[in-house]
Amino acid sequence: MNLYCNDCASFRKNAICQKCGGKTFTPHESFTELKLPSIDRIRELAKEVGYAIGVHGTLERDLDLIAAPWSDDAIGNKGLMDHIAKGMNARIISIERKPLGRYAATIQIDGWFKPIDLSVCPILQPS
Ligand SMILES: [Zn+2]
Repeated sequence: MNLYCNDCASFRKNAICQKCGGKTFTPHESFTELKLPSIDRIRELAKEVGYAIGVHGTLERDLDLIAAPWSDDAIGNKGLMDHIAKGMNARIISIERKPLGRYAATIQIDGWFKPIDLSVCPILQPS
């Protein structure tokens, strides 16, 4: 039997979610899980503007990505977020400041997809 945890947006085996401890339920037979956005396509888009992408997290609730500036011609963090959103037919839902100069954007593709959580590392000049 397939049970589902709404908080984790993931299928579970038991009545209590093993990850968050919340109650699971039996979804309607027509229910289909949110799709994971294409990591390969996001990597291509990031590379076009000078960034490399690392995957972070469990890929359950959302697609957690770390973007690191990778080449000397890397554009700014907002430019990267806009480039990925445009290339994925998505929109930026929110941007949040994170520790050590990172900024994280939640990006949602139009359609039945898990959100992309893109955390962008700052461009540092060698000292
Ligand atoms: Zn859960």
